[in-house]
Amino acid sequence: MLGENIKKLGFGLMRLPKKDEVIDIEQVKEMVDLFMDAGFTYFDTAWAYAGSEDAIRQALVERYPRESFQLATKNAAWINCKTKEEAIAQFDTSLKQTGAGYFDFYLLHNLGEARTKYFDDFDMWNWVQEKKKEGLIKHVGFSFHSTPEELDEILTKHPEMEFVQLQINYADWENPAIQSRGVYEVARKHNKPVIIMEPVKGGILANPPEVVEKVFKEAEPSSSVASWAVRFAANLEGVLVVLSGMSSIEQMKDNLSYMKDFCGLDEKQVTTINKARAELNKIPLIPCTTCNYCAKVCPEDIGISGTFTAMNILNLYNNKAAAVHQENWLVGGHGRKKATECVKCGACEEACPQHISIREELERCVKELGE
Ligand code: SF4
Ligand code: SF4
Repeated sequence: MLGENIKKLGFGLMRLPKKDEVIDIEQVKEMVDLFMDAGFTYFDTAWAYAGSEDAIRQALVERYPRESFQLATKNAAWINCKTKEEAIAQFDTSLKQTGAGYFDFYLLHNLGEARTKYFDDFDMWNWVQEKKKEGLIKHVGFSFHSTPEELDEILTKHPEMEFVQLQINYADWENPAIQSRGVYEVARKHNKPVIIMEPVKGGILANPPEVVEKVFKEAEPSSSVASWAVRFAANLEGVLVVLSGMSSIEQMKDNLSYMKDFCGLDEKQVTTINKARAELNKIPLIPCTTCNYCAKVCPEDIGISGTFTAMNILNLYNNKAAAVHQENWLVGGHGRKKATECVKCGACEEACPQHISIREELERCVKELGE
């Protein structure tokens, strides 16, 4: 399998530590050294992660032999690109910023929904194959945030893609808004190795609800709660690497402590994770399945399901910053209007198969998400 010699923990470079609002290169160097000393070699950056490519050049590329690590970066053709040339220019910028000479893994960044069209329109699919032939890219794949159906369609159209990067965590394994299990199964069906991103759900699962923490602490008092999330992801079959977006030396040390000699979860540990997920499922949530039938009839184009997903994050994890971040991405980031713009016409409620009192719930979201 592709990358079978790579140890399973990857250093995600999206949330690097900062000092006075700029990336703390000295701390990143220390983290890189700890990571490499423990035998890990996979680093994941992106053109779109501000300052990250430049930081990894200083902390890794200029300090270690090029063949001693694998570097992945990504092309986000859907960000401010009007032409193919503008999209391709991201690759040249990435080469320059990282100083890496070539990329071991190159990803088309965040496919799904309206974003896929940019890669189609600019024919980035063939362009990456040309770069591969030139030796500037070793392996090509894409990261993805959408439905299993859409992933199936892309992988059917593009069997040449060597791997996919998916958002997978134990809490969202069956979550209808994220569909971790669904996208994972599609990737397996197409025999694509999977790189897992956000196993700790952007850090949220490091501080889960108390009932969940209790399940984990009772099972293994000395293991961190976050470790369960990373180990769940690493335990899945066909996983090439699990990315952890580490922001401190402490997080790095914790991750290394349990991933250094990780050789799978035993039955008891799997049962513990299932128990934790069952506790999460007991927390009352808005029963939105993200079917988006409501979106088809809403005259104001309100981001209803995105608002509900954000509200559910608030209910589950009591983390307002994470909830608002999700709302911004799922609503504004997808060109939809905020719940404050709802005119209360009620059309959505007639379309909702879950019979949700959408108007009432949206009002509650507006209050609690603080708009
Ligand atoms: S009630 Fe609000 S959210 Fe529902 S369809 Fe009307 S404007 Fe859209
Ligand atoms: S129709 Fe109902 S279940 Fe479907 S997305 Fe809208 S609110 Fe959620």
